[in-house]
Amino acid sequence: MEKKHKVSDLQTHTGVEVMRCYQCGKCTAGCVLASEMNYPPSYLMRLLQTGSKENYNKILSSNSIWLCLNCENCLGRCPMEIDIPKMMDYLRTQSIKENKLHPDSKPILAFHRAFLDSVKSTGRLYEIGLIMNFKFRTFRFLQDLNIAPGMYLKGKLHLLPEKIRDRRSMKRIFAQTIENAKTDNK
Ligand code: SF4
Ligand code: SF4
Repeated sequence: MEKKHKVSDLQTHTGVEVMRCYQCGKCTAGCVLASEMNYPPSYLMRLLQTGSKENYNKILSSNSIWLCLNCENCLGRCPMEIDIPKMMDYLRTQSIKENKLHPDSKPILAFHRAFLDSVKSTGRLYEIGLIMNFKFRTFRFLQDLNIAPGMYLKGKLHLLPEKIRDRRSMKRIFAQTIENAKTDNK
């Protein structure tokens, strides 16, 4: 007998009641990345509704949760106001926690982390720092290198980072967020 506790945890943490979905498919029809996903949003909802641990693990190992842009098109179209983007956030953290990251999604996680590193240290997005961080994480040193000079000439890349004055507050926000996540996972 398979356990159903993982879907219950998802519902507790996100407030999404998966059984409210009646499979109308409007979320998938409006999702710009549905065709690239292992499981488009409405399919993902159906897998969750089965309550099966095996299906839940399929979701955690899928590319769907990493391709999701959190654009909220699905939420805006859903007649039941099911917050799929919020669910995707939760599923991403569970995927990392359970070491089930989809192999093709590793660069996406690397980008998320490089982005957060930049915001944590400067309070802003420092593009060159983000790109270097991403390249070191993924060993994609030559990728898109040819577009850098053009971007620099157009003023899209700044050699030095802009920093906010109160960077300690930013560090406190990150520390508090990590603490909250630990409490949530207890
Ligand atoms: S739009 Fe809402 S109700 Fe319809 S399939 Fe998607 S999640 Fe379910
Ligand atoms: S939030 Fe994610 S799942 Fe929803 S429409 Fe946007 S990309 Fe698709």
